[in-house]
Amino acid sequence: MLKIKNVSKYYGKTTALGEVSLRIPKGSCYGLVGPNGAGKSTLIKILSSIIHDYTGEAIVDNKALTHEQKGKIGYVPQDICLEEGLSAIGNLYLFGKLYGLNGKKLKLRALEVLKQIDLENRAKDKVSTFSGGMKRRLNIGCSLMHNPDILIMDEPTVGIDPQSRNYIFQMISEIKNDGGTIIYASHYIDEVEVLCDEVAFIDKGEVVENGSVDELLKRYATPSIFMKGNPLTLNDIKQYGDVSAKKGGYMLTTNEPLQVMENIIAHCRNHVIDLERLELVQPRLEDIFFSLTGSELRD
Ligand code: ADP
Repeated sequence: MLKIKNVSKYYGKTTALGEVSLRIPKGSCYGLVGPNGAGKSTLIKILSSIIHDYTGEAIVDNKALTHEQKGKIGYVPQDICLEEGLSAIGNLYLFGKLYGLNGKKLKLRALEVLKQIDLENRAKDKVSTFSGGMKRRLNIGCSLMHNPDILIMDEPTVGIDPQSRNYIFQMISEIKNDGGTIIYASHYIDEVEVLCDEVAFIDKGEVVENGSVDELLKRYATPSIFMKGNPLTLNDIKQYGDVSAKKGGYMLTTNEPLQVMENIIAHCRNHVIDLERLELVQPRLEDIFFSLTGSELRD
């Protein structure tokens, strides 16, 4: 269990984090979601012991986050941090040594990690010849060398191909199945929705909401219906719920979507309106984030 209590961090007059408190359960994948500048990286750097000058407490397994606890945490930085002139295995050795591994243990662990990141067949090739996705995977591999209990990933899928993205997702579910905890910061909320059990929405240095993904979707998201018809006007449908114009049609939110869909079909039949589309729209975390903060996740 990782606990963050009233953590604040200022850069001059900028509040990067203001009194943030979170509980991250063991064995979960926990998403940190927020737009650029929200404070995700700052929080991650505090948890990874890169930033020390903050106020509040970070607690791992009931002990304050100290140098000794640091070994339990693996950090995958947003910017790829590898030695381009070394091979994949060379980089794994380098990071393993930094974490105190050596000899047979180091070699065995590097082979295990190479398998995990699916780069066994490129083990001896220089990193400078790798694609962006392969570098991302190796970057993750380096952070796994000391077998951390908690893996913190900062935007790990930025600028990669879909195949590498899938490898990363697969790795995450394997780490979770082995009992590991993952903290996953991203502004790609669709990834967080798929991967994470719990999520914290961060905006302007504050946690605006947090909880299980399923529970938040149930609690906040009102079902919507998208419809398009010829000639379907606002007057035809405004009696059934809150309506906004969208993509050449209308989006209507209601707590009784199925009943409303039936009513709209009947209305269109009676008024000789050709109903081209009528769809139930599943609630998304992105909409909840927007309704809570008024901020878009992407620039
Ligand atoms: P995110 O990771 O969500 O994009 P950051 O944690 O990087 O957000 O940034 C949070 C805030 O702190 C932003 O306003 C950013 O400009 C500011 N900030 C981050 N790092 C520094 C720094 N080294 N010096 C000054 N301001 C910083």
